[in-house]
Amino acid sequence: MVRRLQAQGLAHAGVVAAMLKVERHRFVDSALVSQAYEDTSLPIGLGQTISKPSVVARMAELLFEGRDGTQGRVLEVGTGCGYQAAVLSHLSREVYSMERLRGLHEKARENLRWFRLSNVHLLFGDGMQGFERGAPYAGIIAAAGGESLPQPWLDQLAMGGRLVAPARSANGQQHLVVVDRTPQGLVSRTLDVVNFVPLKSGTA
Ligand code: SAH
Repeated sequence: MVRRLQAQGLAHAGVVAAMLKVERHRFVDSALVSQAYEDTSLPIGLGQTISKPSVVARMAELLFEGRDGTQGRVLEVGTGCGYQAAVLSHLSREVYSMERLRGLHEKARENLRWFRLSNVHLLFGDGMQGFERGAPYAGIIAAAGGESLPQPWLDQLAMGGRLVAPARSANGQQHLVVVDRTPQGLVSRTLDVVNFVPLKSGTA
């Protein structure tokens, strides 16, 4: 899977190493294990999906662009099954990963137990509020897309930090958006068309 991603352009050595370490089949139901290394999203229950590996790679590459070493604190909104949190744990000092569905929050805890990642902190709550106690973040990454970027995410981004998230653009399509906090203010770019599950408020 990772070799295929490299053939498609994945070049960040840290992201390659992280994705080689995290076995994706440990995050899907046994009936789907044979598809775990295909470049496709798969159901993980409660109407949610594990993200496509190429999208996890792309977002991680954007988050850690131009940075080789391990970064500081990262906030992930939308833990799902915990796959991306595991990948990020090899690239960040601390990962705070928030999920609004209790069933998936617990599933991620079970899935991640096997990996013994002491720097992943799984949080149950509405990630649209960010997680003030861990702020400011060197990186914020969202695995669910809303109409616009919630203000708390921008507020909780450290100077020099970067946010990578899907959001709806003026033409109604969902795009990856990258926002950098620079000394001159927030600088944002709109990139690839993507297809993430919806960002929802509150918990369930
Ligand atoms: N990171 C996962 C992808 C999970 S899908 C992976 O590794 O594959 C996105 C997840 O975002 C879903 O589980 C959904 O419940 C969650 N989500 C949606 N809105 C949210 C919110 N406001 N706060 C936290 N999680 C949210």
